[in-house]
Amino acid sequence: MSLKKILKIIFLLFISIYSAEAQVEKLKSVNLGIIPKPQNIVNVGELLSWDPQIHVSFEKELSDQGEWLIIFLKERGIQVSSKAKKTLFLSKKKIKQNNESYEIKINEDSVWIHGNSIAGVSRGIATFQQLLLLNRKDEKISLPVTKIIDEPKFSHRGLLLDCARHYFDKKTILKYIDLLAFYKMNTLHWHLTEDQGWRIEIDKYPKLNSIASSRIEPNGDIYKGIYTKEDIREIVEYALKKNITIIPEIELPGHSQAVIAAYPALSCKKEKIPVANDWGVFKEIYCAGNEDVFMFLEDVFTEVIELFPSKYIHIGGDEVPKIRWENCQKCQKRIHDNGLLDEHQLQNYFIKRIQKFLNSKGREIIGWDEIIEDGEISGALIQSWRGVEHAIKGLEAGNSVIMSPTSHSYLDYDLKSIDLKKIYLFDPIPSESKSRFHDQILGGECNIWTEHVPNVKVLDNKVFPRMIGMAEALWSHGMRNFEEFNFRLQPHYEILESLDVKYGESMIPISYNTVFIKNQLFLQLFSKEKNINIKYKKGESRLMNYNHPILIKNNSIIKVQAYKNLKPYGDIIKIPLTIHDGLFKDVEYSCELNKFYPANKEMALVDGKIGSLDFRDGNWQGFFGKDVEVVIDLGHPSENLYELVMNCYQYVNSWIFIPKSISVETSMDKKLWVKNNFIKFFPKNNEKNRNRRIQEIKINPVKKFKAQYLKIIIENYGKVPQWHEAAGSDSWTFLDEVQVNFNFRK
Ligand SMILES: [Zn+2]
Repeated sequence: MSLKKILKIIFLLFISIYSAEAQVEKLKSVNLGIIPKPQNIVNVGELLSWDPQIHVSFEKELSDQGEWLIIFLKERGIQVSSKAKKTLFLSKKKIKQNNESYEIKINEDSVWIHGNSIAGVSRGIATFQQLLLLNRKDEKISLPVTKIIDEPKFSHRGLLLDCARHYFDKKTILKYIDLLAFYKMNTLHWHLTEDQGWRIEIDKYPKLNSIASSRIEPNGDIYKGIYTKEDIREIVEYALKKNITIIPEIELPGHSQAVIAAYPALSCKKEKIPVANDWGVFKEIYCAGNEDVFMFLEDVFTEVIELFPSKYIHIGGDEVPKIRWENCQKCQKRIHDNGLLDEHQLQNYFIKRIQKFLNSKGREIIGWDEIIEDGEISGALIQSWRGVEHAIKGLEAGNSVIMSPTSHSYLDYDLKSIDLKKIYLFDPIPSESKSRFHDQILGGECNIWTEHVPNVKVLDNKVFPRMIGMAEALWSHGMRNFEEFNFRLQPHYEILESLDVKYGESMIPISYNTVFIKNQLFLQLFSKEKNINIKYKKGESRLMNYNHPILIKNNSIIKVQAYKNLKPYGDIIKIPLTIHDGLFKDVEYSCELNKFYPANKEMALVDGKIGSLDFRDGNWQGFFGKDVEVVIDLGHPSENLYELVMNCYQYVNSWIFIPKSISVETSMDKKLWVKNNFIKFFPKNNEKNRNRRIQEIKINPVKKFKAQYLKIIIENYGKVPQWHEAAGSDSWTFLDEVQVNFNFRK
């Protein structure tokens, strides 16, 4: 879509009845690029220009919102005075059914912001702020004559901020509350406790505030941080004024190593351990058989709910290794005494007890989707993160759900996995459940986990602009057009700068693919944005302009760089490619491909692209907890097979292990399989190596044979081993290119 066309959409769509040329000219200076896009812009007229002086009038009930607005105006050099000729009125008035609906009317001498409720008024203020900033050219107040009626699509629109892996100071939390309000999000999901740190002051258990909030980093540095009750009261009160709900998350029964470090008696083994200083899932968790644990948690929650007025309290419930419970007398006694089947039902028991306690205090729980894996928990709000099937399970059981799938809403993932476009096109209502469960899906969240987010600069870089895409996905009605959104977004970058946001890029500017034409491999490059030129080089050659697909004659690494306005744009992308005799042959799998790691689907293992050290690069195919059989059709019987070379990936922190064994069978007809042309291969497992690494596995036949089909049987590593934090969980196998070589290749 051309720029001109987009301009027209924005400025013309909303003009009713007539659009004479002169009118259009006047309107061109108006920017209505509000994000999230309002539901209904009833009319729009020319731009008004006032002296920077305004009177703000509001009822007593709206004094918080009035003061917020006054501070905003004063900070931008606008005088607020009862003597001013123009007035901005804030008031409550029924607009639509929705609690957060609002109306804004701007005419020659006044601005009216009407909200259904105080929350509605707050959303209207955000629209006013944007209109003012988008149209401001000099010191004056410039606003378009307009009337907007608006309401959100979803009632829960949130950001999860992990302040446990890394601590962000009060100033940053307040800045993020402002930014959430500015983009009409309404929930800050505040992740306050983790294996790596406890961040909320609790009077009754002082060691949480000293020992659990501090860790010794691998380099010996001490890393610590805690929000005092005073900090929290100030933050909650600030958020309340902007109608942002803060939902605290206190993790249980897992992700609790920091607590165990302070109070070892709360664990099954009762051994003294340090606060974790690495990332992952840890097996030291609360003992479910010990009454003291429930007393402790009830005491903690009693203090938590005194600080947070939210209806919901998030209790975590995700990633709970059960190995300690399996070997604990008290936990086993609890299972026996309560007629439970196993440790999974024990988790269900644990969550239900905490739920009962919080319900008795008038609160409800939110838990990650694992909490309904082993039994129903009625009345709990489920936060779905692992994929649609878990959400559907909760919906079918009658639970309400908020959606934050790893596929679309994890802002800690890089742009290769989740770019602005992907997040913008996110629909919290899975297509599998469109009609049935519409009312049970309350909305969504984007999550920023901070293992690799050590400071505010990185935080801003990862959250913006992607969170703005999520804000519109959750608020706006109707069809979404990314190009139009992206055009509307451009002026917001300047606003973000003025709000001291160190935003990052919105997408990787280049994508690539391979094609196989007349027995030759070509690399195709695509630019994802307009005005981008692509240059590339092979080996040590000089940079060349990319005009047509690049012929790849031998194993090579192609380096690619995007240019915007003649300047390098984004990082250099290195693309390793390989030539072999199995390229683009037909491949069949014994099982379905994993939804999160399908890579290039049936072509993934034979497309010539080699996976990098980043297992989310789109080249690695992942399989969880099962063996895989891959059948490659060579196209014709052959007796020249010299070797198979295959890449496997290991990153044990993410439960990815090298396969236990690999065997190869051969066939002429896919019916009769010959097993003894290859010896079963057992790759060396260097499993305690914590690094990300790629293991190249070469397998040669033990004798000459003739076959058209090769079946490669990859045996999964099995359960995550005892020494690992996630002991007992299923493990991943990650595979890439299976190179079929007919002859010796260097
Ligand atoms: Zn126990």
